[in-house]
Amino acid sequence: MSRYFSLSQLQPYTPGEQPRSRDYIKLNTNENPYPPAPAVRNLLNPSAVADLRLYSDPACRGLKEKLAGLYGLTPEQIFVANGSDDILNFVFWGFPGEKGAVFPDITYGFYKVFAGLHQVPYREIPLRADFSLNPRDYYHQKSLIVIANPNAPTGLALTPGEIQGILDTNQDSLVVIDEAYVDFGAESCYPLLSQYENLLVVRTFSKSRCLAGGRLGYALGNPSVIADLERLKFSTNPYALNRLTLALGEATVAEEAYYQKISRKIQKTRENTEKALKSLGFLVIPSLGNFLFARRPGISGENLYQSLKEKAILVRHFPQERIGEYVRITIGTDEQMEKLTAALEEICHENSPD
Ligand SMILES: *Cc1c(COP(=O)(O)O)cnc(C)c1O
Repeated sequence: MSRYFSLSQLQPYTPGEQPRSRDYIKLNTNENPYPPAPAVRNLLNPSAVADLRLYSDPACRGLKEKLAGLYGLTPEQIFVANGSDDILNFVFWGFPGEKGAVFPDITYGFYKVFAGLHQVPYREIPLRADFSLNPRDYYHQKSLIVIANPNAPTGLALTPGEIQGILDTNQDSLVVIDEAYVDFGAESCYPLLSQYENLLVVRTFSKSRCLAGGRLGYALGNPSVIADLERLKFSTNPYALNRLTLALGEATVAEEAYYQKISRKIQKTRENTEKALKSLGFLVIPSLGNFLFARRPGISGENLYQSLKEKAILVRHFPQERIGEYVRITIGTDEQMEKLTAALEEICHENSPD
């Protein structure tokens, strides 16, 4: 079959393992260890399911109004989609810059996949040796700029001031700040929306809002950018968001206090886990996400991953340049992290030279 490019050349995203058995302590895909707020958990009942005979609201007005209230924005500044991956897909599809796209060499793996899918030429800008990002590397790019802040899988974050420098020097390009992990301690740059038309802030309900399986993401941006995103959505699947997820999303926004509380809890657990890992000889990147990126001199990343898996703990290992010695560990409950540190203690012992 002839096509304008060969599908066999597509390099799809490799998701983290989603085991069917529940026997693993699952610290590999940055899900939230806590359940959604009680009001969200109790929302779905037979009548909500009966309503599924009706199409969902393609404008997603109810959810947009709730989010607008939360951030002090207007609904016209908000786009909602089936997970933030969907939004990133639209961004690479609709907003490539004059010279394509740029993003860091070590970041969320899906950016490269979307660039390949939409045949957008891209440049991966190397992070510094300590994995920090130099904002000046992103000045005057004439490209779509995509930065995860905090970055994945390192957890390092830029300040809004640093992002402002990038916005100032790229007024003719869209600058996308992917804030999937911002609720775990970094500062959001959405207040810059009042000054910059070229900023798009992408958020998800998957991490800090305990709804990874609900598939819900949103973007905050300039009304004209949002209108273009709507055009792309209405050209593909206007009803992409199902009624149940929209209802769960609205109820979630109303429970802000609950989610702030569990995000603080996760930060505290992260701090304790970081200390425990360091006392076992790990080098740990100071993370502002709900995960830690760490390595243990003398034990390879692959070995750490496999040895933990044998002990029924799943973490993420990325067999790629610069980060192959690391594992990324999602922050779970205190109890899960105690099991993790006990398992790592055994692994370090088994691998000690004497
Ligand atoms: C998890 C993650 C996403 C995807 O979120 P969904 O809303 O579940 O699609 C996007 N960006 C980053 C950096 C992530 O870690």
